[in-house]
Amino acid sequence: MALLGACASTPAPVEVRSLPREAAPLPHGEVQPQGTFQPNAYLRSCGGIYVTNAPDMDGDFWVVNYKPIIVVGSIVLATAPANDVCLSSGFGIRSARKHDGIDLQSIPAGTIYSAAPGTILEARVSTGYGNMVLIDHGGGVYTRYAHLAYFADGIEAGAEIGFGQPLGMMGQSGNATAIHLHYEILTGNYNNPKGSKGLNPRDPFEFPAYDPDAGS
Ligand SMILES: [Zn+2]
Repeated sequence: MALLGACASTPAPVEVRSLPREAAPLPHGEVQPQGTFQPNAYLRSCGGIYVTNAPDMDGDFWVVNYKPIIVVGSIVLATAPANDVCLSSGFGIRSARKHDGIDLQSIPAGTIYSAAPGTILEARVSTGYGNMVLIDHGGGVYTRYAHLAYFADGIEAGAEIGFGQPLGMMGQSGNATAIHLHYEILTGNYNNPKGSKGLNPRDPFEFPAYDPDAGS
């Protein structure tokens, strides 16, 4: 599923620590407890090579349309919810099957963080996704995190979670062929006969950047 050992040169991490603090009060107006999540300011393909489902990249394999914090409908989300990650696969059709998310790797494997405040809908073991967390952020926006090695304390269905809170550790559970995070942004209504599989997977690189000065 992901390129093995392709992260020898992860992008230089650039601190954008102020962004999540400004994003945190949304959408309910209350400040949630903060973790130590520091999103990549830029995102590069793992190893600086073409990856499957590669999004638009510049000549040095930086993802052109990557923005660290994006706006999906009324929800402010992190695009890459782990520190010092590279992109090992993009969104879209892959080997005649749709890749419903993006794959992110760090070496060593790192903590996975919640991309926005919300309520955990699912935290369970799935055959394909392995240890998987699904979060409802309100406004018909959801995120899924798959192949975790294990869940962090308190990560269970029904729990409220803030922005940048630890969900668990990047791993290789389920059908993963390498240690990585499979991350999905989903829109729609979870209360349908197919549950999360009835939601619409979205390309994380198609959304506008969050502008803390926009005042909206
Ligand atoms: Zn994936």
